[in-house]
Amino acid sequence: MLAKSSPELVRQQNSALVLSGLRRHGRLAHTEICETTRLASATVSAITADLERAGIIERTEQQPISGRGRPRVQFSQRRNCGYVIVITISSDIIQYSLVDYAGTLLDRFAEQRQEETTGGFLRSMSAALERMLARSRLDRDKVLLVSISSKGLVHPNLPSLVWSPVFGARSVDFSDLLGEGWGAQVVLSNETLLVATALSQAKDGHARGDLESGLDKDQGARPRAGSLVALSLGHSIGLGVSRMFDSGASEIVAPNFGHMLHTPKGALCRCGTSGCIEAYAGFYAILRAAFEAPMDRIPAKFVPLSEIEKIAQQARQGHRMARLAFRQAGMALGSGLSRLLSLYESMPIFITGPGTRYYELLREGLEEGLAQALVVRLGGLPPLTVVPDEPALVFEGHLIVAFSRVDQDVLQLAGRQRQVAS
Ligand SMILES: [Zn+2]
Repeated sequence: MLAKSSPELVRQQNSALVLSGLRRHGRLAHTEICETTRLASATVSAITADLERAGIIERTEQQPISGRGRPRVQFSQRRNCGYVIVITISSDIIQYSLVDYAGTLLDRFAEQRQEETTGGFLRSMSAALERMLARSRLDRDKVLLVSISSKGLVHPNLPSLVWSPVFGARSVDFSDLLGEGWGAQVVLSNETLLVATALSQAKDGHARGDLESGLDKDQGARPRAGSLVALSLGHSIGLGVSRMFDSGASEIVAPNFGHMLHTPKGALCRCGTSGCIEAYAGFYAILRAAFEAPMDRIPAKFVPLSEIEKIAQQARQGHRMARLAFRQAGMALGSGLSRLLSLYESMPIFITGPGTRYYELLREGLEEGLAQALVVRLGGLPPLTVVPDEPALVFEGHLIVAFSRVDQDVLQLAGRQRQVAS
């Protein structure tokens, strides 16, 4: 490793500021870069010239509409500086997306997940990655990062899935996913952590639009520059917590909420334990309760959405057991959240995932469960906002995580090349 002089360090930090400003706002003119980064005009000029030379950003010139005067010059990430592949693993399908360095989606396809063994699963993913490159006629070494997401428990340091609804305790290690010729790093994130990441940075983009279409828009909740909880409802229960500290630092975590204890010696969970929140609030648990099936059995690993839809229909028509099943699910979620808020602080809660279709059936139990916490009794219910479009949030979270890493790597590489050249 080359020793880094302090001017070089400052230059890298300032360059990172410029790149992240362009990520947040898109194309920016020189003065706008100065405003967002609060860097001096001469510093910005030096950095943009550097980044342009290194092929990291590009300029576009637009003639004024009047046709007179100087053209408007704007900077943006250079699209072919590198590429990111995003892979989202869900219960039945795996989706692959190819994105260029400016964040533009270039190609996307999905495949049914058929392989039951982890080896076969990894092989089919490797093959899909090769197919993606072939479709876009892209060289392997142009891909800078492969960003994977799944529900479940992710290893803190390795791209390895420790526990997942799909594979259970059979861990899946993605370290060797890429074959010969690839230079990309592989990162793995919990899916709901990505949702929390996207919500914590939501600005004027589509996430805000989704929020406004949410059921609880009257409560006026917005992902603000503060802490928040993202709760995902579906076959399994996901949770992400984004916390902002007074120092300006932030932390985003995905605690194992779905498998946190709700009732000792309670209903059997898919994870093999008894009494987890998911054993009351996952789709299979709602089905089990509605049909009064034995609580020590798992009716099905993944319940077709149409089955849950039928139970919801019955509940809306006043069917007692169907109503109770959703109420019980809401209670388990609400009391889990009440414990979470007691440990941290009261925070706005954003609810997403396919289970949001049944929010009106879950709501009463959820609010009752939440109200058990002293922090809620004192301060009132936290704002609850439904954000139905979970896939869009997951994808946005992927891009935030991926490009913050890729930008750092690209800058370090450019710095090293400059040092070698000088
Ligand atoms: Zn469990």
